[in-house]
Amino acid sequence: MSPQKIAIIGAGLGGAAAGALLQRAGFSVDVFEQADAFSRLGAGIHMGPNVMKIFRRLGIEDAVARLGSQPDFWLSRDGASGDYFSRIPLGDFARREYGAAYVTIHRGDLHELQIAALQPGTLHFDKRLTEIEDDGAGVDLTFADGTRHRADIVVGADGINSRIREALLGPEKPNYSGWVAHRALIPGATLEAAGIAVEPCVKWWTDDRHMMAYYTTSTRNEYYFVTGVPHPAWEFDGNSVPASREEMHEAFAGYHPVVQGLIASADEISKWPLLNRNPLPLWSRGRMVLLGDACHPMKPHMAQGAAMAIEDGAMLARCLAETGLSDFATGFQLYEANRRERASRVQAVSNANTWLRTQEDPAWVFGYDIYEHALGSDAAA
Ligand code: FAD
Repeated sequence: MSPQKIAIIGAGLGGAAAGALLQRAGFSVDVFEQADAFSRLGAGIHMGPNVMKIFRRLGIEDAVARLGSQPDFWLSRDGASGDYFSRIPLGDFARREYGAAYVTIHRGDLHELQIAALQPGTLHFDKRLTEIEDDGAGVDLTFADGTRHRADIVVGADGINSRIREALLGPEKPNYSGWVAHRALIPGATLEAAGIAVEPCVKWWTDDRHMMAYYTTSTRNEYYFVTGVPHPAWEFDGNSVPASREEMHEAFAGYHPVVQGLIASADEISKWPLLNRNPLPLWSRGRMVLLGDACHPMKPHMAQGAAMAIEDGAMLARCLAETGLSDFATGFQLYEANRRERASRVQAVSNANTWLRTQEDPAWVFGYDIYEHALGSDAAA
């Protein structure tokens, strides 16, 4: 009898983590990705101690920590006056109290390390899933290039416009939140030359908008900002469009000189719609299961969306290791029972955009260790 096979659709941060963790748990896993390659796109990302503890299992924790920046604090400041609203201790405090480092890193650098953790030959590029059929005994997948694959179970890690979510729940566009995000990377040397004194990890806030800014490398040769700005409708085609410095100066009129300096120093700025969905009524059906943005997309203001996708992957691997693939149905139930509450809570806080604005205790997020969490069959995560 051939070994039972898992197919993962999507090799984003969630799919890559799920694939590598399921492989380490002994399963036969193939990952199918629609892109024909990954490039170092211009964005940064936070990885909290809750995720770094998962990267420890994948053998990439040290590499992520070495490559990325490790801020001593998350600072929240009044966008106009510059007054400090909060100084959330990270750095040594995070390593000691939460059990791992807090890292900000270039998204492409992180993704590359995660992809390298997959078994060679198991990631298949240029495979856009178009059709999926669960016949009760297995799942048939058809890709845009006409090739097919049969698997015992399928994991939908295919992002906010998930084809697997559509197979489970029918077609439905995500909600446009009414906010856009501007993103830009700025060479550290440009900021130095302009005399702009930046802080390693800081969020500048006013009532309805903000700018989050941080280093993406340990050498501090790259700085990144990402915003949240109200915008009535996403009237553009595609996932993102170029934005101008003028438009940003207008959106951030009255903001602190450091913010003005960052905008003036940005050569290439992109603008993204912020999308989300209401919590889904189900996470799996038959032989198909969802994780990450396919399952619980959120506005990115807590910097935990990818973290939840990676935690999902870790929990799914843990539950299937517990039940075995023959009893995947119990494994899927266990997975949802141990993920739904935590993922939904993070989704709600992230959408509300309140995280760390005041001197709150982030231990419930950063201190969480998925491997220490006692599995409950109908328990809250
Ligand atoms: P995705 O990253 O969307 O990956 C899905 C993959 O599936 C893609 O590679 C896609 O090409 C592939 N795919 C899609 N459809 C198909 C198909 N039919 N066939 C085959 N492949 C397919 N999160 C954090 O944790 N920290 C942060 O600092 C942070 N900052 C953010 C800033 C912004 C502006 C935004 C928009 C998001 C941010 N997030 C952050 C959230 C994070 O980016 C997402 O939550 C995360 O990428 C979700 O991972 P995923 O693997 O579920 O989905």
